[in-house]
Amino acid sequence: MTSIIWFRQDLRLEDNPALNAALARGGAVVPVFIWSPEEEGAWPAGGASRWWLHQSLKSLANDLAKRGSSLIIAKGRALEVLTDLCAKTKATFVTWNRRFEPAAIARDTAVKSALKTRGIEAVSFNGALLFEPLAIKNLEGKPYKVFTQYWRKCLTYPEPAKATAAPSKIPAPPTACKLESLPLAELKLEPTIHWTATMEKEWTPGAAGALALLKRFRKEVGAYADARNIPGVAGTSRLSPYLHFGEISPRQIWHALSGQHHRDIEQASGGEECYLREIGWREFAHYLLYHFPTTPTEPLRADFKGFPWKRNARGLKAWQRGQTGFPLVDAGMRELWTTGWMHNRVRMVVASFLIKDLLLDWQEGARWFWDTLVDADLASNTLGWQWTAGCGADAAPFFRIFNPTTQGEKFDASGTYVRRWIPELSKLPDAHIHNPSEAPVEILRTAGVTLGKTYPKPIVDHKEAREAALAAFGQIRG
Ligand code: FAD
Repeated sequence: MTSIIWFRQDLRLEDNPALNAALARGGAVVPVFIWSPEEEGAWPAGGASRWWLHQSLKSLANDLAKRGSSLIIAKGRALEVLTDLCAKTKATFVTWNRRFEPAAIARDTAVKSALKTRGIEAVSFNGALLFEPLAIKNLEGKPYKVFTQYWRKCLTYPEPAKATAAPSKIPAPPTACKLESLPLAELKLEPTIHWTATMEKEWTPGAAGALALLKRFRKEVGAYADARNIPGVAGTSRLSPYLHFGEISPRQIWHALSGQHHRDIEQASGGEECYLREIGWREFAHYLLYHFPTTPTEPLRADFKGFPWKRNARGLKAWQRGQTGFPLVDAGMRELWTTGWMHNRVRMVVASFLIKDLLLDWQEGARWFWDTLVDADLASNTLGWQWTAGCGADAAPFFRIFNPTTQGEKFDASGTYVRRWIPELSKLPDAHIHNPSEAPVEILRTAGVTLGKTYPKPIVDHKEAREAALAAFGQIRG
């Protein structure tokens, strides 16, 4: 009667349908995590994600230990590890929560049928999304490409089931099974360079950290509709890495807020409704990845395949290091490098800068985000980059080009955000904080800023770059 629960991106005990199914069978439950980056296709976890995963596995192992269970950590091909575990424990039931990345779907399908041929029942569940991607289609039976139409359809479905509590006990297999786990350090997830000191201060990976953030955010959600756009204030939930690793489920969030009023979300403009709509964008991102699996490497809009992107190694490096001479862009890129996270408004601005001011392929940006974000998520990252490039579903039109200076003046009017991440500009008055290259010499001198020395001159002329971007866009429009 022994069952195996294969933990992947569902690193929690609360509201975990696969774990519940294993427990419902009544026998022993063997929890396993298998590190197999070679099975992740072109997108194995980046540096920041690996750091997070290490901490999160530690937290999950502790949570399991408190319930009399012990996490088995393994590496290698999933099918081989699972088959070996089944043989050792005589398990006849293997279960997991579904993932929606193309490589994971292909691997899981193969694992499921191989286990079945060995007489082992393999059952998967949806523990990651409020609405199953397969079920939602338009009247022609095709997938939606416009968010509001998609979300409206989702909201006609019954309300997502209530989240379940964590079990108080998880029965362990007999010690005679002699199960061995690798030490976590053996997975070598943590970086060898000294890079994560600030991340350690900033984040508490694991289910308890997620619940603490949700508790705090519930008190602040009323202000979300306005505060979410201001990078200088903590106006968003910062739950994205926890959602990515499944340390909290969207159902837990839905029911902790006013999910029961979900049919009004589309119309309503209150903080909770606005927030659940953003959770809806996460759903949409997974939905698109499921229905259009080539989008991590190809634009959804085929006409963008011939876009005349440039090569510009120096520009890319300046962008990555936060040295472009545009304060809002540089502040965002430094926040990313330091904390593994960046505010959504600033993500849009830095992405637009890479694509439209530098004319670099959005994939260059997506790859950098993939390596440096603690919430790097194939679905949401692909959606965010294709949205900004104008080549994805329901995307911003290409000709909508963010002006990084006016974006800063509008959303960081008092320069709080820029001063936090670019201390060398902190003494500039508000009127010049977003545009130091236009500041009078005297003001710069008083603030201790020497352009080209203490802070870079702008690496492009935004007006000229805008014209060049529109001309390049003209080429693919014919
Ligand atoms: P909140 O504002 O508190 O939102 C709550 C949750 O809703 C988030 O945690 C997230 O799960 C979801 N969400 C919010 N906005 C979006 C969105 N636009 N698309 C999809 N889901 C959303 N998000 C990721 O989780 N991983 C990524 O790799 C990622 N890459 C991005 C790349 C670009 C170029 C852009 C423009 C956006 C990207 N986003 C990504 C979306 C968004 O920026 C983050 O989800 C958000 O900033 C996370 O902060 P939060 O948890 O405080 O968000």
